[in-house]
Amino acid sequence: MAGVSAKELMAVLFTHLARVCVDRVIRCGASVRIIARTMTREAGCPECGTWSRRRHSHYERRLSDTAVGRQEVLIQLRVHRFRCGNDACVRQTFAEQVPGLTVRYGRRSTGAGEALQAIALALGGRAGARLDR
Ligand SMILES: [Zn+2]
Repeated sequence: MAGVSAKELMAVLFTHLARVCVDRVIRCGASVRIIARTMTREAGCPECGTWSRRRHSHYERRLSDTAVGRQEVLIQLRVHRFRCGNDACVRQTFAEQVPGLTVRYGRRSTGAGEALQAIALALGGRAGARLDR
C-alpha cells in the first residue's frame, strides 16, 4: 500500500460516495462509520416529476455498506427533504435520492460489494481476495 494516500484509498474504496461530502470517518469498535451529507440543490418529485429547489428539512439515513476487511462500514448520510412546488401534487414533501447510494426505502447501500471489487482491481486480485475473507 506504500505510495497510496488515504484520500486516494477512500476514492477507490468508496466510489459511490463521490457525490456526497464526507465530513468524518469514525471507528466505533469493530465498525467504521462514515459521516456524510449530500450537496443537492434541487431534486425531482417522485410523484409528479416537478423539480424543486425548496428545501423543507433534512434527516439522517443510516446505510449499511459492505464490510471492508473485517470491519463493517456504516454510512450516516444527511439527506434533504424538498417541498414539491406543484400545488396539484398529492405529495407535499419528498426525500432526495442519491444515485448509486440510496434506494427508496432501502437500508442497504447499493454500493455494497462494489468496494471490494474496486480493492481487488486496484491491488491486483490477491490483496482484494485477502480482504474479502
Ligand atoms: Zn410533486
